[in-house]
Amino acid sequence: MKGCLGDMCFPRNCGVCGRELIVQETVLCLACLHDLPRTYHWLSPCNPMAASFEGRFPFSGATAFLFFREGSPYRKLLHRFKYGGEPEIGFYMGMLFGKELYGSYKKKGAPVVVPVPMSSWKRRKRGYNQAEWLAAGIAASAGWTMASYAVKRVRENKSQTTKDKEGRRENMKNAFVAHPVPYDRLLLVDDVITTGATMESCSLSILEKNPGIELSLASLAYVE
Ligand SMILES: [Zn+2]
Repeated sequence: MKGCLGDMCFPRNCGVCGRELIVQETVLCLACLHDLPRTYHWLSPCNPMAASFEGRFPFSGATAFLFFREGSPYRKLLHRFKYGGEPEIGFYMGMLFGKELYGSYKKKGAPVVVPVPMSSWKRRKRGYNQAEWLAAGIAASAGWTMASYAVKRVRENKSQTTKDKEGRRENMKNAFVAHPVPYDRLLLVDDVITTGATMESCSLSILEKNPGIELSLASLAYVE
């Protein structure tokens, strides 16, 4: 059963423990919200996600919101968001993430949020791009602009699950086409970072068309 808030309908059971939500709760019960496996990357520029991108391309910061651990009940929530036809879960998680990110951009200035795109045929098949819902949640809670047009995905690749790191990188080559944008600072958003090959390929095409732009990275989940 779903309950609606404005135009958006959220499930009325906790996405992690399944308990029926009380009226003040959305998506997660207060206990599961409290126990979210937060990375706290936004408090430290030298975090494991930033380290995993070091030397691959120029970026000004990298942050994930949650740890994506084997056997964690929070995986179920992310699965429902990505594959289960419930993109509003991603919007809600984006809003939580945006609140944390907001503080870390106070000094350097607001970024324009860009979701990692999906090819048009894949988007039609799934019905939505999960990164876009997440980015919209971040932008809404932080009060930032979103610019989905900054980069397009022109090639969808075969499943990446069986390829090794080098194979995934090769697989991702030339998958994106970026456009010049009139901004100084972008925040590229994706749902899950594993090897980072998608983020890397997307970032390289953005940087090629926007030399000197300050690019930072955000992911909902980080695989340890
Ligand atoms: Zn719960």
